[in-house]
Amino acid sequence: MMPEIKKYSNISSFKSANKLLGIEISSEKEDLICYSFDSSGFKGVLPTAVAWPRNTNEVVNLVKYANENNLQIIPRGAGTGTTGASIPLAKEAIVISFEKMRKLLEIDTANLNVIVEPGIINGRLQREIQSFRLFYPPDPASLDICTIGGNIATNAGGPKALKYGVTRDYVMEIEAVLADGNVVRAGGKTYKKTVGYDLKDLFIGSEGTLGIFTKIRLRLLHLPADSTTLLATFTNLEASGTAVSKIVASNIIPSAIELMDKSSIEAVENYKPIGLPSNVEALLIIELDGNADSIKNDAEIIVDICNSCSGDISVAEDISERNKVWEARRSISPALFYIKPTKISEDIVVPRNKISTMLAQLRELSEKSGIQIVSFGHAGDGNIHVNILIDKKNHEEYIKGHEIVRKVFEATIRLGGSISGEHGIGITKAPYIDMEIKERELELMKGIKNLYDPKGILNPGKIFKAS
Ligand SMILES: Cc1cc2nc3c(=O)[nH]c(=O)nc-3n(C[C@H](O)[C@H](O)[C@H](O)COP(=O)(O)OP(=O)(O)OC[C@H]3O[C@@H](n4cnc5c(N)ncnc54)[C@H](O)[C@@H]3O)c2cc1C
Repeated sequence: MMPEIKKYSNISSFKSANKLLGIEISSEKEDLICYSFDSSGFKGVLPTAVAWPRNTNEVVNLVKYANENNLQIIPRGAGTGTTGASIPLAKEAIVISFEKMRKLLEIDTANLNVIVEPGIINGRLQREIQSFRLFYPPDPASLDICTIGGNIATNAGGPKALKYGVTRDYVMEIEAVLADGNVVRAGGKTYKKTVGYDLKDLFIGSEGTLGIFTKIRLRLLHLPADSTTLLATFTNLEASGTAVSKIVASNIIPSAIELMDKSSIEAVENYKPIGLPSNVEALLIIELDGNADSIKNDAEIIVDICNSCSGDISVAEDISERNKVWEARRSISPALFYIKPTKISEDIVVPRNKISTMLAQLRELSEKSGIQIVSFGHAGDGNIHVNILIDKKNHEEYIKGHEIVRKVFEATIRLGGSISGEHGIGITKAPYIDMEIKERELELMKGIKNLYDPKGILNPGKIFKAS
């Protein structure tokens, strides 16, 4: 039964009461500011309140309260999203933060799965299951700061997606609170299931617009026996793209192929000198896992492919050298802020045999516009993080930067690609969604949103272009 709800009509009422229905809540300005932006750098509107529920029941009560008081609900993981998907766009909103729902509830070693609360940090989950020799592959570069709830809502990927797939491939079951406060369970305990429409798959990548995840069952694998890291350098950017295409077309599947262009190498070395090679146009970090014999065999094939593309290649000698290489890869994003204060980050994906064409077009766009574009990312998937570096206070640069975004998306779609490989649409890409999704498909998507959330209170203004 619903507890009696005390109606608060304005922010000051919340100030005197830091609990609503027994749930921790705040409307202090410093809290509201902290929850009004994310990694996109886009600042939203200060909401009415931020709440920290501790369980599903508290989420249900918050949603029912929001319904009765015409407040929007904005689910939020760690705010590492790069598209503004977790920020409030109206004052009449409650942000629901999952910082107090971080438990690893159950590890089922017999059936290889785990049940978690949505606020658990991806990296913590990975470390905890390692002691059971178990493995959760989705590894966004933000893994030490982002939550599993956010990963599901964005269908996050990472370097290991090349061999192991993305978040979607590991979600078995989701408990979610709908916009009317009802709790639903989608998916199940079994490895296979074909019963009706797959509502679980609809929640994945829904960016907090269809339901609020409160419990999740994830599929696990056994940890690979061994792994190794190779570093290939190229004096020609397009040659690195050709090497990626050739590796992907060969009969081996590395667990990761990550690309860093010259600008990202220089940015990392200026920010945190790691000793990456200089005087190269690009480098590839290639990881192999499996048993020692197959790794050795695959490494030989990769050396041959990289040499055929005029690349130099070396194997990381020990774990500290491997960690250094991966630390370099994970440092690119913060390093770029030392070049320019504003970074417009896109995460386009192209068919894997089109990587060098795309890299060449990005270089041309940068040369013609005079705006620095730094490219890096999960090249093995064709997923390139395109970072357009500007100072948004400089009006001319700001306009040019956004013109480049449109041109990058046009080139991507011409090559048969997609405007987002893993970050989602949020608000920053909403104006461009109809470049890729046609009218009828968009109508279907909007129809689904309307069915799940007829009052439009769940994370409104995200994914779809404002009409
Ligand atoms: C340095 C850096 C590196 C990154 N690298 C990668 C990468 O390699 N791959 C990648 O995919 N992304 C990457 N990202 C982007 C980001 O980390 C991911 O999108 C991540 O999945 C967001 O998780 P979060 O917990 O921060 O979610 P938030 O940013 O808080 O929210 C993201 C979306 O999830 C929704 N949401 C959050 N929790 C719930 C819930 N419980 N129920 C329903 N909806 C919810 C929000 O409403 C929002 O729509 C990177 C970001 C940074 C800053």
